[in-house]
Amino acid sequence: MADKKPGFDTLAIHAGTAPDPATGARITPIYQTTAYVFNDVSHAADLFALRAFGNIYTRIMNPTQAVLEAKVAALEGGTAALAVASGHAAQLLTFHAMLRPGDEFVAARQLYGGSINQFNHSFKSFGWHVVWADAEDPSSFEKAISPKTKAIFIESICNPGGRITDIEAIAKIAKKAGLPLIVDNTLATPYLCTPISHGANIVLHSLTKFMGGHGNSMGGVIVDGGNFDWSASGRYPLLSEPNDSYHGMRFHETFGGIAFAITCRVLGLRDLGPAMAPLNAFLILTGIETLGLRMQRHCDNTLAVANWLSKNAHVSWVNYAGLPTDKHHTLHKKYAPKGAGAVLTFGLKGGYDAGVKLVSNVKLLSHLANIGDTRSLIIHPASTTHSQLTDEQKTKAGAGPDVVRLSIGIEDVSDIIADLEQALG
Ligand SMILES: *Cc1c(COP(=O)(O)O)cnc(C)c1O
Repeated sequence: MADKKPGFDTLAIHAGTAPDPATGARITPIYQTTAYVFNDVSHAADLFALRAFGNIYTRIMNPTQAVLEAKVAALEGGTAALAVASGHAAQLLTFHAMLRPGDEFVAARQLYGGSINQFNHSFKSFGWHVVWADAEDPSSFEKAISPKTKAIFIESICNPGGRITDIEAIAKIAKKAGLPLIVDNTLATPYLCTPISHGANIVLHSLTKFMGGHGNSMGGVIVDGGNFDWSASGRYPLLSEPNDSYHGMRFHETFGGIAFAITCRVLGLRDLGPAMAPLNAFLILTGIETLGLRMQRHCDNTLAVANWLSKNAHVSWVNYAGLPTDKHHTLHKKYAPKGAGAVLTFGLKGGYDAGVKLVSNVKLLSHLANIGDTRSLIIHPASTTHSQLTDEQKTKAGAGPDVVRLSIGIEDVSDIIADLEQALG
């Protein structure tokens, strides 16, 4: 037993957690405090100079977050992690540690819509420029790299199309170019896919979705793969050069395999400030304990719904890599063999009006803009998230008038199908 590596479900419950040293409480407490008393003056000085690790102020770290960070790092096979206020905050801090004004990064065009907005608009005001590539064509990433490129960004399973990315092919291109590969693993979760084992250097999550899993708290996390040499090229000065705000410390030289997580914490989180609330860390920790059970049920239900939809007379097409006929089925078998996730899109023969009718008629499914809840969710992008676009722009974005997106929950699948059947009726 002693040398057996614990399985996923054991880690999901036990990794990072121990009974509370002060009280014996078995469950990690919500440390609802802003600050922490120093032992003495030299302890305080050591903490501020990073000569000792410890709690100073909850914007930078908190004991409830620390347990969540250790748990996610263990599940992803990373060296360390940093929990933050949201998935978007995780993206902001990740790029902040790598990019200087005028730098570029290459990202897959097939991303969560919020990430496309963040990259196209807000990042531009920092002087960070996104260059788009095609997740379905790894060679397009190589072509998009310029001398200004500092990183590559992809999703493992893409939101909303449910496509699976060939992580190893893109990791090879990143490695050859000396660039870190960042993978947003939100839709897969480490239960389905561990990108670091396929060559990724940084893994990000919106913990808001399947990781927390109950639609009740926002959160994000940055996982450090510990497998990128931040000093080799001299192009990541925040990591490799002496830092003025820490007495000239070089983070990569000092912290080695956990340098990226530390840099995001002591510079990004310290100065930009998107800290996770301790209550949210507690709720997400509780959610992760059942991640394996939930994800398997999510995936099994989604495959059953996809099969049913693909035979329905109102439906023209179904995009779900779990279907044997899907063009991403082989990549699904390689990267996420336990399931192809719980988000799928499909087309309605009746177009826009049929989409509006369907979302108006559902009773069990919730019509809203989210994914990764225990309950099943539905959205018709053309009449909601993408309604400001022209029909041509909608179609280009994979949100044509006929497209419906589902995030399938863990209810009884017969009830989910019965609701879709009456609503399509
Ligand atoms: C929701 C989502 C995000 C953003 O996360 P928030 O927690 O909403 O900030 C990023 N990536 C993907 C794939 C998402 O689904």
